[in-house]
Amino acid sequence: MRRDDLRNIVIIAHVDHGKTTLVDCLLHQSGQFRASQLSSERILDSNDLEKERGITILAKNIALPYEGVKINIVDTPGHADFGGEVERVLSMADGAVVLVDAAEGPMPQTRFVLSKALECGLKPIVLINKIDKPDARPHEVVDEVLDLFLSLGATDDIAEFPYLFASAKAGFASPDPEVREGDMRPLLDLVLKHIPGPDVNPDEPLQMRVTTLDWSEYTGRIAIGRIKSGKIKKGQSVMISKADDTFERGRVVALHEFQNLGRVEVEEAGAGDIIAVTGLEDIDIGDTICAVDKPTPLPRVAVDAPTLEMM
Ligand code: GDP
Repeated sequence: MRRDDLRNIVIIAHVDHGKTTLVDCLLHQSGQFRASQLSSERILDSNDLEKERGITILAKNIALPYEGVKINIVDTPGHADFGGEVERVLSMADGAVVLVDAAEGPMPQTRFVLSKALECGLKPIVLINKIDKPDARPHEVVDEVLDLFLSLGATDDIAEFPYLFASAKAGFASPDPEVREGDMRPLLDLVLKHIPGPDVNPDEPLQMRVTTLDWSEYTGRIAIGRIKSGKIKKGQSVMISKADDTFERGRVVALHEFQNLGRVEVEEAGAGDIIAVTGLEDIDIGDTICAVDKPTPLPRVAVDAPTLEMM
């Protein structure tokens, strides 16, 4: 079953190409798009963003409500790493926004993450940013991204990626680099149209691979990941499959979904959702949270080191 109410994506960008500016802009604008419909809902103001900015804005997942769909943006490490972190994070998403500076073009350092994203089957959308720069070369840079994709062995359908031109700083995305006005809705519309919602089987037993750990002084470890199948509920008993093939029992004390820059508590979450689970003390990255009656671990994501060639 395909979920239409959800999209899980990553943004892949070389440092300084504008990821922070884009995320900032999307958070602001999605609040404004909603303002007319939901006047009682609190919208992030620039103070909130300013406080967070530079400290944590990209060190966590965010979620944007748009047109009745929740768009989860999972943070990716921008660099090559040696612990399988990139693969684990990418395994939470179905699509990627590949953000490229319109003057600099694609940089070799993003090659590793991009190649992993294509290997993981993520659907790419290309966003050529900073088209307001005097030395921007929008169309040439699209061709350079195409060359990069082809050099990574992208199949024909992936090499026909959709693309938009943008200025994250000015706050617009457009199919035409000469049209430099509007907002980011063309990008969000393209995400909804081109990137599929999670393909899930809600009736299977619970399985969720832990991708990231967080910590709270009050509640201890918090396990973050995408639910592969089944459902998880507050108060539920679960089995945790460990690296040494043993199982431990645990109980879910609280569940939080992502919302804008923060989190909201929920009673229940289902397959496809990205969720933070509190109450499982001994949990580690790579463990699977499983149903008690049918505990089946998910494969631990490969921890191959990247080859030098890829870096
Ligand atoms: P990150 O490292 O990818 O998160 O990049 P930032 O969002 O921090 O942006 C790096 C620099 O590029 C900052 O000085 C931004 O103000 C600037 N920047 C971001 N988007 C644009 C844009 O669309 N046009 C121009 N001219 N500058 C931009």
